[in-house]
Amino acid sequence: MGEGPEKKKNPAIIRTMKIPNIGRLCVLLCVLMTLTALTAAQAQTGSGTSYVFSVRLDGGQASMRLLTDFDVLRPCEEAPLLRLGAREVRVIVQPEELGAFRALGLPHHLVERGRPFQELRRNKPLGPDARYYTPKEIEAELLALEKKYPTLAKRVDLSLLTKTGATHEGRHLFALKISDKVTKDEGEPTALLAAQHHARELNAPYMVLQAAKRVLAGYASDPLLQKTVDAYELWFVPCVNPDGVNYVWTRDRWWRKNRRRNPGGSYGVDLNRNYPFHWGKCGSTSGRESSSTYRGPSAASEPETKTMMALARMKAFDKYLDFHSYGHEVLTSYGPCQQRAYAGKRVLQVEAFYRTLIRGKMRFGTRSPSASGEAPEWHWASQGSLAYLVEVGTSFQPAFTATVAEEKRVWPGVRAFLGLRPSLAGRVQSLKGKRSLAASIDPAQALQTTQGERSKSAQGSGRYHLWLPAGAWTVPVQASGHQPLLAKIKAPTLGLTKTLDLTLIPILPSVSLSLPNPYVMGTTAQLALKAGDPGKGYWIPMALGKAPGMEVGPRHLPINPDGLFLLSAKPNLSPNYVGHMGTLDGKGEARAKLKLPRTPALLGFKLYFIGMTFEKGYPFDLKAWSSPMEMVLR
Ligand SMILES: [Zn+2]
Repeated sequence: MGEGPEKKKNPAIIRTMKIPNIGRLCVLLCVLMTLTALTAAQAQTGSGTSYVFSVRLDGGQASMRLLTDFDVLRPCEEAPLLRLGAREVRVIVQPEELGAFRALGLPHHLVERGRPFQELRRNKPLGPDARYYTPKEIEAELLALEKKYPTLAKRVDLSLLTKTGATHEGRHLFALKISDKVTKDEGEPTALLAAQHHARELNAPYMVLQAAKRVLAGYASDPLLQKTVDAYELWFVPCVNPDGVNYVWTRDRWWRKNRRRNPGGSYGVDLNRNYPFHWGKCGSTSGRESSSTYRGPSAASEPETKTMMALARMKAFDKYLDFHSYGHEVLTSYGPCQQRAYAGKRVLQVEAFYRTLIRGKMRFGTRSPSASGEAPEWHWASQGSLAYLVEVGTSFQPAFTATVAEEKRVWPGVRAFLGLRPSLAGRVQSLKGKRSLAASIDPAQALQTTQGERSKSAQGSGRYHLWLPAGAWTVPVQASGHQPLLAKIKAPTLGLTKTLDLTLIPILPSVSLSLPNPYVMGTTAQLALKAGDPGKGYWIPMALGKAPGMEVGPRHLPINPDGLFLLSAKPNLSPNYVGHMGTLDGKGEARAKLKLPRTPALLGFKLYFIGMTFEKGYPFDLKAWSSPMEMVLR
């Protein structure tokens, strides 16, 4: 109750300041209000900002623990350094990690507390350059590009488009769509460039924004870009993590994760550990909430992850390029443990071929990502998109001039990436009416994959893409309501493209035909057709043989198109064969009658009958048929 030294001290101060009574009340109120405001701010923003310590490693167990358990400043996707030895590192420690950090007992000193990036912006030239982007500035920049290039560029609210809703703090994710006739959905192939899954990587979104600007400005003069914009829908998402980036600007420039409030009181999920492919299984992915690489409570738990995944499922991107900082590297498509399992397999040859091409143009190195749950791994494994993570720069927030120079270095690789075409592309369609199908394509035989990797065709357009090595491959294709197709595909040399549409046959009603066999000439034979397809047309032709049959579009009809077959195409063939053509009754059934006069010359002769049904939209309107039925004349 305000006893002890405090009680004695405060009146003394107030006395010294000679504040009148009414003034004292004001001061008290002010102090109370400030305290309330601070508490509210802390509740909203977490318990405080990062500590940046300089730590002396000694090569022992504690040094190892620091490198594996703490946010040691290094390229954002690098695996924990196993190379120990005496040296100095910088480590970012969250307030709730302080105890664990101090318990390591490593010699350290405080370099700085995490400060709002905007403060550093104001303090130019002491702080980093002012020209990095806040989430609002990125949104405005995308809108400005739409205004400048109305026929080519359009800003899209992804949270609305995908109906996945807002982030934890109520923000939306935004994209710039670039295409000729940008306001139309032409069902063209698609590519996605994204950045800033990690908030503090302020130089990464500049690569995406600038690529969009270069594409728009180069459309009139660069034939490769013109061809790409005409043929493609290009999607640019400069900032996947607006809540985290806002926090970087307003509270703590070292913040990496999003702003989920974790049950234990800490904040944030590492969005680039939250994707479902092998989520939490491989590498150093952390299940500790306060960790800077916390993978989240479940796969795809985060709104930002959900939005990006929903966009990928809608658009079935051919290609995906994901910018991070820092490191001058294009990463392999698989985490280290998956990659080991694939040593020598064709999938790694394909992945390496395109990666080498891109990083060669950037003059970048390469390495494995550190963990599963990363975005490019998911795009590659679940959508079949050629997907890479690019680490730009040599720090998260270098002077802006360095980032401008970096973008110039990166652009030739991005341009080459935009020019790449899949080994095979085309549409997955239904045999009925050539309707587009959302299909799942299994490249396992061609790529020697074993982890359930699939390529998907786009909802709406049915457009698919496959990145395959040269050769003849069998590729299973599945779509709902259709028979699985084992497509025989001949893939061209790596780097070349080939167009091939894949046609799937709808699952058809089973059709059965029954008839007497043998048939005694002179009697009446009842032929009964059961198709379970009321109101559809039917036909029961006869023929002298069932092999070799005939081809009807991509289907094989097992009855010969001989003279007898053609003759039975006549509706009023003969009073001896009636009811062989017409409309199925309410049960989807039909009956025909055959009465051949007794003819000794025909004894032992064989006829074949087949029951067919018809529906518009199929080749020759032919929908389904029964097995061919034999009839021996007696
Ligand atoms: Zn990163």
